[in-house]
Amino acid sequence: MLYEVKKAKQMYRAASDNSLLRIANDSFSSLRPEIIPVLISELKKRNIGEVIINKYESHYDLLDEACVKEWMDKIRGSVCPDCNKKGLGLLCYNGRTTSSYLIKSVYLNRTFISCTYCRSEKLRSLNLDTFLLGWWSFFGFFTTIYSIVQNLINSILPSHKEQENMYRYVVYHHSQLVDHEDQITEYLDLNNKA
Ligand SMILES: [Zn+2]
Repeated sequence: MLYEVKKAKQMYRAASDNSLLRIANDSFSSLRPEIIPVLISELKKRNIGEVIINKYESHYDLLDEACVKEWMDKIRGSVCPDCNKKGLGLLCYNGRTTSSYLIKSVYLNRTFISCTYCRSEKLRSLNLDTFLLGWWSFFGFFTTIYSIVQNLINSILPSHKEQENMYRYVVYHHSQLVDHEDQITEYLDLNNKA
């Protein structure tokens, strides 16, 4: 379970009925997708907020922990979208690039899924791009160093951090994953290149 989800569970449990309802109403379009099911389950447990619960349920794709876990396992067991090998246990990680244009420096932070071997290759190639394109502005100098260090950190990510990445990936892409259930590798590949 994500650290934020655990924290939200504790906070909502400690809140009064009124503040819980206020949070549900005021945060309808700003709550993060992984937090919404926590709020809804607390409201249901107290038997309050039927109207706002219906609103959330008709608007959002609400996943329980078991469903997220099932999708995490399904992705891990898929064929790697980069090397097309199966059974390597896919990982979810972030990668950054920095490019500089005249005085501006632009950075991109993206999420990828692949096997361990392809992760090293991917992060190395992002660092090479950053190294070639990132230095040429004043701020670029600093963001280039930042990007390169982040990619190095991402290449040796501890397992619990990787689990959190995969958890978020499932929550944020669930409806598309369901639509592409028979072509998961193709979907992961498309997303890696997006
Ligand atoms: Zn691979």
